Formats: sequence, C-alpha cells, structure tokens
Amino acid sequence: MGAVSGEGVCGIAQTLVMSPLRLPRTHNLEPRARRFLFMVETVARLLELQELNITLRETEIVHGTANSPDLCALKERVQALREQVNMDHLARFDRLMRQGLAVVRLHNDNCEGCNIGIARGDVNRMVTGKLEPICPHCGRFVLAS
Ligand SMILES: [Zn+2]
Repeated sequence: MGAVSGEGVCGIAQTLVMSPLRLPRTHNLEPRARRFLFMVETVARLLELQELNITLRETEIVHGTANSPDLCALKERVQALREQVNMDHLARFDRLMRQGLAVVRLHNDNCEGCNIGIARGDVNRMVTGKLEPICPHCGRFVLAS
C-alpha cells in the first residue's frame, strides 16, 4: 500500500495519503489470524470514520457546506478510509450511522449501542477472531478487546 492519485473530493486532483494504521504483514499468518487482523483493522478504520463523520456534521452545522481547506482535508481523509473498507462493512456502517453510532464499545460484555449483553462465549470468539465483532442484537460493530 502507498499512495493513490485521483480526483480529490473537492474536485482538485491530489494524492491521498493512505491510513497511517500499521499492522504486521499478514501473508505468513494462518487464515484465522489474518481474518482477525482484517477485522481489527476494519473496526479501527470504521471508528475513525465515525469520528470524522461526526466532526464533518458539526463543521457543516457551524460553518456551512462551503469547502474550506479544513473541510476538504476532512473529506479527503473520509474518502481514503472508505476506500480501505469492504463494501459490505461500509454498507452496514452507513446504515447504522443514519440511526446513531455504528461502532460502540463493550462494557462488561454489554453492547453500549443496545445495552444488551453478549454471551461470554461469543465475546471470546470475537476477541480471538472466530466471530466478526458485530453485536448479534443490534448489528453494530463492537470494540471487543
Ligand atoms: Zn448491540
């Protein structure tokens, strides 16, 4: 991965710098470990995307939608992150963001999105990469660490 060139969000062709997120190289890992890293990376990107979306909304409320340099930079980052998340996860993320938060934490095995407990066994499977870290009750991405 490196940099991709393309039409910028604000209509200016520019180079997008890829996510600074660095994870170990995955080619020599067993499939489960690779899936696990993939989901950790996905949830980390979605969490950043969620924070950026909230900032973007607030910026637009305060300053309007005119493209200031800050707003452009924000949109570029959003675009770069979106390109690094697969379509299914992105679709789920967008649907959830329309209703509130898409990525939530677990508190004592309770999903902070819907407040319903997730079975300990499922949490363990999420932590070890055997199960996608998605709340079985509300479908939000959960930070299961
Ligand atoms: Zn939930």
